Amino acid sequence: MGPVASPVIVLFRRDLRIRDNGALAAAADSDRPVLPIFILDEESEGVRPIGAASRWWLHHSLHGLQKALNKAGAGLVLKRGRTADVVEEAIKVSGADTVLWNRRYDPAEAAIDAALKTSLRDKELVARSFDGALMHEPSLLQTGSGGFYKVYTPFSKALESSVEPRDPIDPPSSVKGWKGQLEGLALDELELLPTKPDWSGGLQESWTPGEDGARRRLREFVEDDLSDYERSRDIPGKAGTSGLSPHLTFGEITPFQILAALKKFHGAGAAKFRKELAWREFSYHLLFHNPHLRERAFRPEYEAFEWHRDAKALKAWQRGLSGYPIVDAGMRQLWHTGWMHNRVRMIAASFLIKDLLIDWRDGEQWFWDTLVDADPANNPASWQWVAGSGADAAPYFRIFNPVLQGERFDPGGDYVRRWVPEIAKLPDRFVQKPWEASAAVLKDAGVTLGETYPSPIVDHHAARDRAMEAYRAVRSDD
Ligand code: FAD
Repeated sequence: MGPVASPVIVLFRRDLRIRDNGALAAAADSDRPVLPIFILDEESEGVRPIGAASRWWLHHSLHGLQKALNKAGAGLVLKRGRTADVVEEAIKVSGADTVLWNRRYDPAEAAIDAALKTSLRDKELVARSFDGALMHEPSLLQTGSGGFYKVYTPFSKALESSVEPRDPIDPPSSVKGWKGQLEGLALDELELLPTKPDWSGGLQESWTPGEDGARRRLREFVEDDLSDYERSRDIPGKAGTSGLSPHLTFGEITPFQILAALKKFHGAGAAKFRKELAWREFSYHLLFHNPHLRERAFRPEYEAFEWHRDAKALKAWQRGLSGYPIVDAGMRQLWHTGWMHNRVRMIAASFLIKDLLIDWRDGEQWFWDTLVDADPANNPASWQWVAGSGADAAPYFRIFNPVLQGERFDPGGDYVRRWVPEIAKLPDRFVQKPWEASAAVLKDAGVTLGETYPSPIVDHHAARDRAMEAYRAVRSDD
C-alpha cells in the first residue's frame, strides 16, 4: 500500500450540517480525502463556554452529524481544546495543506478564526472560510457614512436591497474519507450530557436536535403554520412559531435554506417571518460591531444604573415562583423544554429588569444556561432591548404589565394553565391575577395563596413607579 494521501481538513463548530455547507462542499469537490474535525474550544481567549441546555443539544446534534458524515463516506473526529492547537496537531499528523471552515461572528470566535487564517497562510498553507450562518457579512453592510447600523428598520431595508440570498448548496453526494488516524474523543468523552441529576427529560420530549430534525421542523412549519404566522406568533398558548431557533443557533439549517423554502409564499405570514430572520441578522450585526454586547450596556449612560442585588427575588424568578402567572409559566416552560415563547421572554425579562430592578446580565446568564437556542447575538441583544440600554431598544418607560400582557396574549389562560397547573382551576378572569379572586373562588380552585402558589413577590404598580424613578436617573432618551 502506498502512502496515505494528505487530506483537506474541514472544521465543524456551529455549523452542524452537511447541506448548504460551503466548506464541506468545497472539500468534497476537491477530489482529495476529507478530514472533518469538530472542536469544542472553551479554552481560547474570550470564549464563553456554552450553557447546560446547549451542551445537551450539542451532544445530540453531533451524534446526528457523525451519522450523516459516516453515511457520506467520512468520519468526524471529535476534539476538545484550543482551535489553534487542534489544527496544528491535525496538520502535523495528516500532512494536510488545506483547512476550510464556515465563518462565525461571535467576536471571540471570529478572532480565533482570523488568527488561524493568518498563521496558516504565513506557513503557505491554504485557509478558506465560507458563508452560511448569516445572510449578510457584518463587516460589509455599512451605513451611508460608513458605520454600522444601530436601528433595525434601515438595517433591514439595507439588508433587503443589497443582499441577494444565494441558493443553498447541495450536500456532497459522497465525501472521500481520509484513511489515516487522528486520535479523537468518543462523543461521551466530551461530557456534554447532564448526569446527576439528569434533567433532560423535558428537552428530549420537545426536540429532535440535528439536521434532520431541523429540516422536518421547517417543512412542517411552512406547510401548517406559515400562513397564519403573523396572527398566531404572539399567542404563547399556540404552537404558532417555527421552533427553528436552536437549529439555527447550532447551524443545522441556514437562513438560505429557510428563504429558499419560503420563496413561493408571498402572504403576510411569510413577510413577517422574513422580518424575524432579519432581526437575527441585526443582532449579529450589533454583536459583530460591539464585542462587549453581553457585558456592557450598548448605551454607556446605562452603566451607571443602580441594580438591586436580591438573590431571593432572582431565585423566585428563575424557579417560576414570582406570583405572576404569565412570568412563572414562561420560566417553567424554559426550565422544562429549554425554550420560551418570544412574547413571554419579553414579559419575563421586563419583570426581572423593571419590576425587580435586577441587572439584565443576570437574566441573560440564566437564559444562556437554560435555553437550547442560547445565542451569542440574539440573547444579549434581546436582553438589552428589553432593558432599554440596547440599540433601537424599547423605550425606558415601556414597562410590561404582566397581568395585562397575560390577559391580552393568553386570554383563556391556556398557556398559564399548562405550565402553572396549581392554578389551572381558576376561572379565566382570575387566572392571570389570582390575588384578586375571593376566598371562595380560591378555595373552589384549590388555591391557597402563599402556600400552593406564591403571592406576588412585588406589587407591579409600586414596582413600576420605582423603576421609572431609577430609569429617570440615567435616561437620555426623552
Ligand atoms: P420564530 O418566530 O419562528 O422566528 C424564526 C427565527 O427568527 C427564530 O428562530 C430566530 O432565529 C429569529 N427571531 C425571531 N424573533 C427574533 C427576535 N426577537 N430577535 C432576533 N431573532 C429573532 N433568540 C435566539 O435565537 N436565541 C436567544 O438566546 C434568544 N434570547 C432572547 C432573550 C430575550 C429576553 C428575548 C426577548 C428574545 C430572545 N430571543 C432569542 C429571540 C426570540 O425570542 C427567539 O428567537 C424565538 O422565540 C425563537 O423561537 P422560534 O424559532 O419559534 O421563532
